[in-house]
Amino acid sequence: MTAHKLHGALGGGLLTRTDFRLPELATADLSGRTVTEVVAHGKHILLRTNDGLTMHSHLMMDGSWTASRNGKRLFGSSHPAHHLRVVLETAEVIAQGHRIHDVRIVSTTRESELVGHLGPDLLGSDWDSSVAATRLLSTPDRMIGPALLDQRNLAGIGNLYKCELLFLRGVSPWATVGSVPNIPAMTDLAYRLLRTNRDRWEQVTTGNNRPGQQTWVYERGSKPCRRCGTPIRRADQHEPDKGRLGDPHARSTYWCPHCQPGPSP
Ligand SMILES: [Zn+2]
Repeated sequence: MTAHKLHGALGGGLLTRTDFRLPELATADLSGRTVTEVVAHGKHILLRTNDGLTMHSHLMMDGSWTASRNGKRLFGSSHPAHHLRVVLETAEVIAQGHRIHDVRIVSTTRESELVGHLGPDLLGSDWDSSVAATRLLSTPDRMIGPALLDQRNLAGIGNLYKCELLFLRGVSPWATVGSVPNIPAMTDLAYRLLRTNRDRWEQVTTGNNRPGQQTWVYERGSKPCRRCGTPIRRADQHEPDKGRLGDPHARSTYWCPHCQPGPSP
């Protein structure tokens, strides 16, 4: 979690020197300001200062941050100098953004204009379960499976969590959002699952981290359901109006037809 590490390195620090190696920010200078916090919103990184500014950046596929304290590397690996985009220094820490994208400095009150199209981030400091539930419920006719993967509803759920969450809530991935009994309980559970796993490599939803025991249904096609013994089913799920191609949420979906009754393909 880059934002988490950057916060550890720069949070509370007074910026003594900044350098923006981007034409549009060539004259920008954040020195003299204190970094109050660094937070992630999806893949957006927001660095906030004590006088109400936010420096926004995005890692895309190739960007990264490194930091060192008193010359000792805190995190990140070395990069060629021409990848350097942003340097932020405090008395002890030098943080460097390499190949970071979409760097902008805006008033903190205008942050939402940059990231507002994303739903609440499950691992962010501003997670709000009720906002995520409201966004999901704004499309009641949509299938719940793809709706959970849509970052505009809530940011952070991948295909594994989608499958596991629906199993744990006893909901068919093909059910419509409007037919799911308790959407707030779904977003609360998503939060608990992601928080539990945030600091480990494996994604475990069963509470059992032995190999082959870590998930209820994900990648267990045709194996017996751990609860009822019914063979787990697998099918590609895509939304009817989008078609197989061009649908970013078309993924292999795993479910137990007995524990998750309702529509199926
Ligand atoms: Zn079952």
